[in-house]
Amino acid sequence: MNRRHFLTSGASFLAGAALADSPLPQRSGVPLDQEPLPYDFGALEPFLDAAMVKEHYQKHHAAYVADLHKVLASVHLQAASVSSLLKTVEFLPPRSDRSVMNLGAQPGRLPEQVKQAIRTNGGGHMNHTLFWRYMAPPGSGPDAPEGKLAAAINDAFGSFPRFRKAFAAAALKHVGPGWAWLSYRPDKGLFISTTANEDNPLMQGSVPDAEFGRPILCLDLWEHAYSPKYRGRREDYIAAWWSVVNWPRVAGSYGIVTTTSS
Ligand code: MN
Repeated sequence: MNRRHFLTSGASFLAGAALADSPLPQRSGVPLDQEPLPYDFGALEPFLDAAMVKEHYQKHHAAYVADLHKVLASVHLQAASVSSLLKTVEFLPPRSDRSVMNLGAQPGRLPEQVKQAIRTNGGGHMNHTLFWRYMAPPGSGPDAPEGKLAAAINDAFGSFPRFRKAFAAAALKHVGPGWAWLSYRPDKGLFISTTANEDNPLMQGSVPDAEFGRPILCLDLWEHAYSPKYRGRREDYIAAWWSVVNWPRVAGSYGIVTTTSS
């Protein structure tokens, strides 16, 4: 556990801001605030219609961001990014102020209620940010992975069609709200997992150890993501989603997670 990944005081927050301005080739983190949607609301049709994307982005996603800021303010916690926050949410120490004491904090850890609110709202924000990033208008790019990413998918799953089949099967099998993921870990390579609710693979200590990793692709399995357009038919929603996956962006993330340590 690396304490530099989370920042609990004004001074370290400033240090984090300075780090963020350093000339890194591409930032892999997710900021605390909602970034603009990288396309028009209607750009993913017919996979997702404009009204659904608008409601999903402006209502569901925005609510997570607003509630994340509320819970962080309630415990006087600042973070450089939501991704760095979620990596450490199970290990964050409580502040010694009254608001935390009143919630019955155990020494050494945030109160369960606060931690859960960070998992839900921080996860909801981060997961949706990645979901939007990893989609692009149909026909705007390649319909399959290329280069090193394609080779890594072949190595891990046998072929691209076999990967699609395995990913779809995992997404279909997942019970209740959650997410399907393609993630990377040095000792495992690429692997598929699903998480419940708004958890994600970065949440070490929250997800099973075997499913901890750095995500490079995700699919929203909450009903609000596919009903009523797909009338609750998750398999149709999954099948349609492949036509809007932003493979160059996924390849960019693969490049980052395989060449950086955090
Ligand atoms: Mn959603």
